[in-house]
Parts: sequence; C-alpha cells; structure tokens
Amino acid sequence: MCIQERKEYSLGRILPIAETFYSLQGEGYNVGKPAFFIRLCGCNVKCSFCDSKNTWDMNNAQWLSIEDLLSQIEESKAENVVVTGGEPLLHNLNPLCELLHSKEKKLWLETSASLPFSGKWDWVCISPKAACMPLETNYAYAHELKIVISTAEDLLQLPTYIDKVNKETHLYLQAEWDKRKEITPLIIEHIKTNPRWTLSLQTHKWLGIE
Ligand code: SF4
Repeated sequence: MCIQERKEYSLGRILPIAETFYSLQGEGYNVGKPAFFIRLCGCNVKCSFCDSKNTWDMNNAQWLSIEDLLSQIEESKAENVVVTGGEPLLHNLNPLCELLHSKEKKLWLETSASLPFSGKWDWVCISPKAACMPLETNYAYAHELKIVISTAEDLLQLPTYIDKVNKETHLYLQAEWDKRKEITPLIIEHIKTNPRWTLSLQTHKWLGIE
C-alpha cells in the first residue's frame, strides 16, 4: 500500500474487502430479511471455530473505495447493509456510514465489540468472543447480543451478560455450527427455564445458501 492509500485507509475512504454479496440475513433478530453484505478483512479475535478465516489476513483484501461499495449496493437495490468481518471495528467506519446513511440505507453491524466503536448504526449485533471480550462500555450499543455456545460450561456464563446489556437488548443463543447436534438440545433446555434468551439458527447454513 502506498502512502496515499494508507492515508485514504486511515480516513476510512477505502476499506479492505473480503467479499460483498446480496442475500438474506441468516441469523439473529433480522433473520430472513434481505441485506447487502460487506465482509471486511482483518480480525483481532481469531476464534478457534471461525468460519471466515479467509478474512484474517489483510493481504487477502480487495481494497475498495466507499463510493465503489455504494455503487454495488445501489446496483443490488438493497435497502439494508450488513457490515461484518473479520472484525469491522478494526477500521474507521465513519465515512462509510455517513455516505450510506445519506442514501437512506439501514446499516447493521456485526461485531465482537472488542474495539472502540466507529460509525453510526441502525442495528448492532454484538457477539462476545472469549478470546477477546467486548469493551465494557460497548455493551450499551447492543440491540442484539448473540452468544455462540460451544460447551455446556458456556451456558454457566450467561447470567453475567444480562447485567451488562440494556433491558431492551434481544438475547440470542446459537450453537457452534460443528457442535450443533450436541449443543442445540442444551440450548433449548436452557431457554425453557431462562426465557429472556431466544434460539438463533444459522438458517443460511441449514439451507446451504450464501
Ligand atoms: S471474531 Fe468473527 S471473524 Fe474474527 S475469528 Fe471470531 S468468528 Fe472469525
């Protein structure tokens, strides 16, 4: 990257893109709704169960300007835009949000919340990761908290989250995909006795769509 590109990146005018596509949100509160996905490269968390490991290395990125991203979104006719990763908050997202909001797009963020926020968001899904937990002040941004459950012990940690989020925050439990057969029944039993939580399924994976 040359000095000019570094400057454009630090200003949030170009971003490292792993992929973009128009599909349906597969999980959580907005499941089933159409959205244009911007998957950014770079991740400071590096979960063992990550299904987007191709995003970890920024050398894999295609660098696109925020105007190029807007053109793709407008061509797709999408009204909702999901910004995901990787860990999107590694990057300055203020200009992207300003540009897309000026075109009336609804912006949904998916983040581990382990870094300070940038950008303004219409919907924030925080998915805490044990390897790099959310900054305590970031829980207040969560419209939705989604916990990936890998072991029965993970369920024991859930009460600690309830004190951190707002009363209105939607709480979801989702089985780690490769362990879904053992873990999903445990989640169902937990929700039956702790009804503040809701089951989240990765419907795109069940359906075999992007
Ligand atoms: S935070 Fe997301 S992208 Fe990063 S390692 Fe974990 S699952 Fe993968």
